[in-house]
Amino acid sequence: MSNAFGKIVILGAGLAGLTVAESLRAEGYDGAITLVGAEAHAPYQRPPLSKGFLLGTTQAAQLVMRSPELLAKKGIHLKVDAGATVIDRAARRVTLSSGEILDYTGLAVCTGARLRPLPLPGAGSQGIFGLRSLDDARTLATALETAHHVVVIGGGFIGLEVAAAARKKSLDVTVLEAAPRLMSRVVAAQISQFYHDLHTAHGTHIVCNAVVTELVTQDGRIVAVRTQEGQEFAADLLIVGIGVIPDTAMAATAGIVCAANAGNAISVDACSRTSDPAIVAAGDCTARHMDDGTWRCLESVQNAMEQGKSAASALLGRNRPFTATPWFWSDQYNAKLQIAGLSGGFDQTVRRDTPGAAASFSLFYFRNGSLIAVDSINQPADHTAARRILDNNLPLTPAQVTDATLPLISGC
Ligand SMILES: Cc1cc2nc3c(=O)[nH]c(=O)nc-3n(C[C@H](O)[C@H](O)[C@H](O)COP(=O)(O)OP(=O)(O)OC[C@H]3O[C@@H](n4cnc5c(N)ncnc54)[C@H](O)[C@@H]3O)c2cc1C
Repeated sequence: MSNAFGKIVILGAGLAGLTVAESLRAEGYDGAITLVGAEAHAPYQRPPLSKGFLLGTTQAAQLVMRSPELLAKKGIHLKVDAGATVIDRAARRVTLSSGEILDYTGLAVCTGARLRPLPLPGAGSQGIFGLRSLDDARTLATALETAHHVVVIGGGFIGLEVAAAARKKSLDVTVLEAAPRLMSRVVAAQISQFYHDLHTAHGTHIVCNAVVTELVTQDGRIVAVRTQEGQEFAADLLIVGIGVIPDTAMAATAGIVCAANAGNAISVDACSRTSDPAIVAAGDCTARHMDDGTWRCLESVQNAMEQGKSAASALLGRNRPFTATPWFWSDQYNAKLQIAGLSGGFDQTVRRDTPGAAASFSLFYFRNGSLIAVDSINQPADHTAARRILDNNLPLTPAQVTDATLPLISGC
């Protein structure tokens, strides 16, 4: 397909879509590239939305990854405000919301994910917000200026980052988490406890085992939430942070195979290929096959970039499997959490403290004696070493972990 007659269409102008487009050029593809985005914006970074953007320390202009002009210089035709509505695989064409039809020789589906809706009556009332897009962040930032009692449903990464931003604005903040501890899907109890203490020390009220079952509204506005346990929390601003759903309805309707046990995300192999040889997929809309046989959505910057690069290669008939160790980060107050690897199924954890630094340590997860993941808090050197160890399958003993005077990588 690396000739001037190719027509590659990319659906979704987020990080994954942008990476596919730029990687195609980097690999020497000189045919047409059309990057189609449903939002009104050129590709922008999402992670700062729940961090500096809400605090006003990061401006919208700083989020832009590539301007339309820069993309045009690379021969990438960006169409914004242009959601695709239909993929016709037999005819190899997509229809946009405007009715325009784009033919393709290769298609990349990078449609990301959308907010999981709160399944309760009143969820559309005024004062209730989610955070996925720049437009969401703008609306939320404005609402935070006049709010008093903020309730966050969901003690995951985004809920906690938003809670920290709201507390920094001196608002009264309560986080309600249905599980027995914070971020329980991803981290071990010791890390959850660290964050519970951190948020509590900053004055946030954290309530775990709190399942919200009722939204109390007055004149169409949220005023309180009630939990299954019978507690009521006043709220003039409610943030729903209960995760996302892969945006794959269009792909599924077109018959592209999706993983029913992974939120119906598009099933891709390590090279980002889908069930259709002319179609690749990358980023939050995909599920990747794991070694234990399950399908998993990784929902991270690294995943969007690595799958995007693999997808571009696959469109050019090349193999570039994404095999690197997954990594992720989250910033809450003065604590930077960096995660390397996937800790699911661990049977042992070993803690490595940084001498003389109270809020700086790493937790190493082992399964059957082998390292599978490391969570580092304010310890970037451990994170870097962990990725090297996991990427290269280097040996590591618990003794090396516990004694912070010993290097993690022998010989370093
Ligand atoms: C607030 C927030 C904070 C985050 N913080 C972190 C972090 O600290 N670290 C980290 O690693 N990750 C973080 N993430 C996750 C990370 O941003 C995502 O994993 C990444 O943006 C995924 O990129 P993507 O291109 O797959 O999807 P998206 O960025 O969601 O882009 C997909 C795009 O496709 C568009 N689209 C959907 N349907 C169509 C259609 N039919 N036609 C055309 N376009 C369509 C969407 O409008 C969207 O613009 C955060 C995410 C959010 C929302």
